[in-house]
Amino acid sequence: RQAAFRTDIGALLEQVGTGKESLIFMKRRIRRLAGQWGQAANRLGEKLKRSWRERKKILVHVGFLTEESGDVFSPKVLKGGPLGEMVQWADILTALYTLGHSLKISISAKELQGFLGVPPGRGSCPLTGPLPFDLIYTDYHGLQQMKQHMGLSLKKHKCHIRVIDTFGTEPAYNHEEYAMLHGYRTNWGYWNLHCKQYMTMFPHTPDNSFMGFVSEELNRTQKEYIQRNKVNNMAVVYGKEASMWKQGKERFLQILHRSMEIHGTVYYETQRPPEVPAFVKNHGLLPQNELQQLLRRAKLFIGFGFPYEGPAPLEAIANGCIFLQPKFRPSHNSLNHEFFRGKPTSREASWFLVSSQHPYAEQYIGRPHVLTVDYNNSEEFESAIREVMTTKVEPHLPYEYTCEGMLERVHAYIQHQDFCIPGVSIGNDSKVWPGNSSSHFVRLPDSSGLAWAGRVADPSTWPPLSAMRLLLSEEGQSCIDQCQDHSLVCEPTFFHFINNKEAFTQLQIQCDALESEMNHIYPAFSVSRRDCCLQKEPLLFSCAGFHSKFQRLCPCRDFRKGQGSPATRGL
Ligand code: UDP
Repeated sequence: RQAAFRTDIGALLEQVGTGKESLIFMKRRIRRLAGQWGQAANRLGEKLKRSWRERKKILVHVGFLTEESGDVFSPKVLKGGPLGEMVQWADILTALYTLGHSLKISISAKELQGFLGVPPGRGSCPLTGPLPFDLIYTDYHGLQQMKQHMGLSLKKHKCHIRVIDTFGTEPAYNHEEYAMLHGYRTNWGYWNLHCKQYMTMFPHTPDNSFMGFVSEELNRTQKEYIQRNKVNNMAVVYGKEASMWKQGKERFLQILHRSMEIHGTVYYETQRPPEVPAFVKNHGLLPQNELQQLLRRAKLFIGFGFPYEGPAPLEAIANGCIFLQPKFRPSHNSLNHEFFRGKPTSREASWFLVSSQHPYAEQYIGRPHVLTVDYNNSEEFESAIREVMTTKVEPHLPYEYTCEGMLERVHAYIQHQDFCIPGVSIGNDSKVWPGNSSSHFVRLPDSSGLAWAGRVADPSTWPPLSAMRLLLSEEGQSCIDQCQDHSLVCEPTFFHFINNKEAFTQLQIQCDALESEMNHIYPAFSVSRRDCCLQKEPLLFSCAGFHSKFQRLCPCRDFRKGQGSPATRGL
């Protein structure tokens, strides 16, 4: 069953169904971007020419769109509610379909039951036979529904599940017992999955897999045309719901209005929303293609702090706008901001702080496309506006947000990530996972240079172990930051190769004692006690964790430029 790339999206559109506004939005998007997906498929096909790709049976169960979860999103599609999730699901469906896999799509608990072959009312283990899918993509709502309908059989099959999780789930929140004992309680966590089974919208932490989405791609002619036709004093405000314009925004809009014409795309029913000042030209919520047209003419796309981390700034930058956004000091997180409360992520590593409205744009793109400034400092704000008006920028889209980038990544995950192999699939089976004791230590041939790295790596280890560089963090520093400081990325898959005494020796650390415990910052070195601490629970291996009194052992690796986000070495 070889998977063959598909470029005709007709069958996909039919499968998505119709009726709900959310589905109409997704179908429009799939149709609009079909051409660029097709071209990307051809290019990737060329690159992968000789490699065998198995055609997987995949179920996509979009939990948040089901009536059973309340489907709060669909009614808001035409009213300025969150669309980012729908953008991402449309792109995931298109990527899986384009890669040639066999897809089933479900948006109700009934369809889910039907596809899984779960007969109603069959006790706690209704699915006795094999799972009829190789992979199931769902979200936290869907996971909950699967638990309801599959009962205990969910445990047996959970290595096949991938959870689309916008903001991500860090290991400390994922492990039920640990989270309960150590105060990592949330509204969502505790599924004891392998953290790479959670797939995020932006590369928040390498503990999770970065799924992403795509944005408009322009050819050279289109780019030149856009640059020629930019209106130098035209600004579009980021915020399609009137509530995003509240709370003192008028002051900034006044300043901006002195030099620029301001456009908005704020949803309204009959009357102009009072939050939007009269001098703003409000177009109402626009269909995606019309928003793109507006962005093509505008020079500035300006954010006022909410929504966080949506797709729109990438679209604006891809259409040649400069994105101006507020810096947050202190950074926002689950303790100080309502929006992040209850989310299973701390966002404390300095590379993943919510230090602005759109940290990815700030950290991964930056000047000249992105200006992140303190809005409370009017001098800084005004100087940023001057900079916008005097700087020429080209439309820019990071490779990882192109169709080819996303196809390449999703292909690599499908090809290489297998959480069902004992030893890799951990979850509830963690007790059978090879322990930390050095009895499992097997020397690699010296020529590999990794003789100290514990067990012999299976040649199928992905990413390849040869890419690893072992580093020691500072006290109070996470592995995310330690690796980034060396232009590398933390690779959690490698933790089990460095969770041994030999790794400490390699780093020339003398251990006064060696202990093994369940702790999301281990393996690590306690400087004051000179203790070397190993990880007892593989589910807790974490790039994000840190502690002021510990130096962490960090398995870092290099990565491909443009797929800066961690996913993709050794494609
Ligand atoms: N969008 C749109 N019409 C508009 C404003 C936004 O279709 O008038 C789309 C936009 O193209 C983007 C999506 O809404 O792809 C999500 O936008 P945003 O960044 O605001 O994220 P959200 O908060 O909706 O997840």
